[in-house]
Formats: sequence, structure tokens, C-alpha cells
Amino acid sequence: MKTIGLIGGMSWESSLEYYRIINEEVKAKLGGLHSAKCILYSVDFEEIERCQAEGDWESSGKLLGDAALSLEKAGAEMILICTNTMHKVIGYIEEKVSLPILHIADSTAKQIQKSKISTVGLLGTKYTMEQDFYKTRIETNGIKVLIPSEEDRKVINKVIYEELCLGEIQQSSRDYYKKVIKGLVDDGAEGIILGCTEIGLLVKPEDSEVPLFDTAVIHAIESVNMALEK
Ligand code: GLU
Repeated sequence: MKTIGLIGGMSWESSLEYYRIINEEVKAKLGGLHSAKCILYSVDFEEIERCQAEGDWESSGKLLGDAALSLEKAGAEMILICTNTMHKVIGYIEEKVSLPILHIADSTAKQIQKSKISTVGLLGTKYTMEQDFYKTRIETNGIKVLIPSEEDRKVINKVIYEELCLGEIQQSSRDYYKKVIKGLVDDGAEGIILGCTEIGLLVKPEDSEVPLFDTAVIHAIESVNMALEK
């Protein structure tokens, strides 16, 4: 079993889920008292969010690159960036380490392809929904990506930073997300990417008439497949 290096804390609410799912998956696959070999480098999310708001991706990229290097030195054999948004700076991380980095959008696209779905709606931070680094990576797999309207994107983004990343789960926000999902389905989405690792804490399969692709769950499970590969 390879040692998984997790760059987490973005937010720690979702890093907890990664830790739980990875261990559950190892237990399911190997049985007995087996648990995951993993190392977590948890950053201060306030510092990262400040860089995002200022558009200073270089500083946050360097910070995460240093985190990855620490994980490599500590014995990690593969890296997971436990957030969709910060995959924007994967280039800075790749510069620092020679370890394989499992890209969250690749794992998600693979899962969507398995479901034979060709059009999906994407929910995430404004960076993930509006910029190219994520959508394009999904679309190169032959999947069409729809995003919510500008007004809806604002609310979806606000809920992530002002509620979910602070551990707040509000029914009114769930209702809003459900309304946005319904709109995307009416526009042709056959599935919805929960493209932010906290959204699965708010929105559950019963909140949608089409399949949900929870990126935190998909990424965590795929990392175990990779860690157990012979
Ligand atoms: N965890 C979130 C994501 O998957 C948002 C926090 C962040 O900006 O990294 O995008």
C-alpha cells in the first residue's frame, strides 16, 4: 500500500471527509484492521482564501508546493490536493515534487464517463465554475459542462465560503442549491458535479433527480485505488 499525502485544510471540514472515506475504503477493500497509510498537511485556509480574493495565485501555489514537498520528505508516495479550486495552481506543485498527483477533475471525468453521461452541470466556487482550469479538463473527456447563471453562481459561491467552509449547514441554502440543480437539469444536465469538496455536506442524492458526482468522495476513493495498485 502506498502512503497517500493529502494537502488539506481547504477547508478542514472536507479534509475530515477525505480522511474518513479513505480509511473506510481501505477497510472495505482489505478488511480486518487495515487502515490507510496517509499523511495530512493541513494549511491555514484564511491565508489561501486571502490569496484567492487578491488574485495572487502564485503565492498560494508556492505555499501548496512547499506543503507537497514536506509531504514528500515525510514519506508520501502520491499527492492529493483536497480542493477543486486549488487545482488551479497544480503547476506550482508539480514543479516542487516528482510524486504523482491525482487530479480531482480527471477522477471525476472518469466516473462520469462510466455513467455514460455526456452533459453535466457544475457547482463549485466562482473560480471553478467561471475559469477554464477545471471545466476544460472535464470537457477534454468529451463531456459538456453547464454552469449556473451569474446570479446563482454568486449565491453558490457565498454559501461555500460563508457557511460550508465554516461548518454551517442551512436548510435555506440547501433549498437554493436544489433550485439551481433543477434549473441545470431543465437545461439538459444529466448529472451534477459537486465541484467543491464541501458541497456534499449540504446536498445529498435525494436533493436531485439526476446523479450527483461528489468530487471529494470520488477523489478519495480513487486515491485508494491508486494506493493499492500493484
Ligand atoms: N473546498 C473547496 C473546493 O473544492 C473550496 C475551498 C477552496 O477555495 O479551496 O473548491
